[in-house]
Amino acid sequence: MSAADAVTDSLAGLRERFAAVREGRPADYIPQLALADPDAFGLALVSMDGHRYSAGEAEVPFTLQSVSKPFVYALALSALGLDEVSRWVGAEPSGEAFNAISLEPGTGRPANAMVNAGAIVTTALVPDTPDEPAFDRILHCLGRFAGRGLDVDEEVFASESATGDRNRALAYLIRSTGTLPVDPVRAVDRYFRQCAIRVTAVDLATMAATLAYGGVNPVTRERVVSAEVAAGVLAVMATCGMYDGSGDWLLRVGLPAKSGVSGGLIAVGPARFGVATYSPPLDATGGSVRGHAALEAMSRRYGLHLMLNPALPGSTVTLVTTADDLPSAPSGERGLRGRVGVVAAQGAIDFTAAERVLYALDESGPDGGPVVLDLHDVTAIDSVARGMLHNGLARFTADGRRAAVVDPKDLLGPVDAVRERTGRDLPRHATREDAVAGRARALAGED
Ligand code: GLU
Repeated sequence: MSAADAVTDSLAGLRERFAAVREGRPADYIPQLALADPDAFGLALVSMDGHRYSAGEAEVPFTLQSVSKPFVYALALSALGLDEVSRWVGAEPSGEAFNAISLEPGTGRPANAMVNAGAIVTTALVPDTPDEPAFDRILHCLGRFAGRGLDVDEEVFASESATGDRNRALAYLIRSTGTLPVDPVRAVDRYFRQCAIRVTAVDLATMAATLAYGGVNPVTRERVVSAEVAAGVLAVMATCGMYDGSGDWLLRVGLPAKSGVSGGLIAVGPARFGVATYSPPLDATGGSVRGHAALEAMSRRYGLHLMLNPALPGSTVTLVTTADDLPSAPSGERGLRGRVGVVAAQGAIDFTAAERVLYALDESGPDGGPVVLDLHDVTAIDSVARGMLHNGLARFTADGRRAAVVDPKDLLGPVDAVRERTGRDLPRHATREDAVAGRARALAGED
């Protein structure tokens, strides 16, 4: 029994709690889906370190159905870019059922890529070339999201194809408005095939985790799509992923998600995890009843709601002092070192942490003396924080204060803002001792 099984315990606890729910029933408008076992209930979670956790029927195969939509949208965005894709399909919640005639008045564009109308268009946008037919691209791309080769459940495909007249009608209608780039029959055939791709809850959690991890599959470590594409897909999932239940879902669960009529459901904690459930009985919006209940409970229990971001009381700034107070101070230099301020930071620096560092800089250094910013124990600086530190150091030095930085890992990158404002480079040192000695010498030169 390992400590990490704590995550498995949580999934098993959710399964136990909601397995007895008897509401809803499996979709039957695609006859083959009605044969699903209504008691099957699997949960899986994949972490950013690529660890997979599961409970219940997490290895039972079922078809992707609409959970394919965000991933094919990701493929279309990667191939054509956001501007081109947006010419064909919008990004507004339709507030309507999955199979509604959701076409924008005027342009005829489907409302978004998560409802059937939009998904048929997205699928039609995937490049189709003799060396790589569109469906092969889709199967290959979705396999990279899942971290293994996937296949099609031909029986489910045939079953939907035999009964899918509403989707065919939608495709013809879209074609009539001029917003379907390929023949409707071919577009719908391809769309039915993508819906019939076979996965397990563990596969789905891995696919969701790839979106959470900025487009990199955390299990295989392969980059599948760019971070921008992953962010765009998550944005559309957040607003449109649960059809006409999307607003309520975002309110109560607070995670980008996508449901499918075979009973699969994914939710994404950006930079944290991908989670998936499989349970065929559906509610009125076409989403899994048990999956919905389990993810809502999980979000509430662990505080996963994206808008719920309590600031952690951090210890970003570990030291604000003068060099004189440091244990290494050589006695001969005490006078000058006493005028050098030292601010040390640690850990990963984001917006909040960078703001703390800038406040500490302002408060440091007696009598407006020089300051050493020691980033030796900093592990990473994100792009917002880097910009803030560059501009903060530029303002600081433009005010006539002298600064030096200890940045042995060069996490700050080139601080051009300081040179632009002051005409001088920011002194960089490998150790705090060197930086303090350098500032003390500079003071001696000035005195
Ligand atoms: N293949 C299904 C359809 O188009 C997908 C719907 C869904 O999963 O929500 O009707």
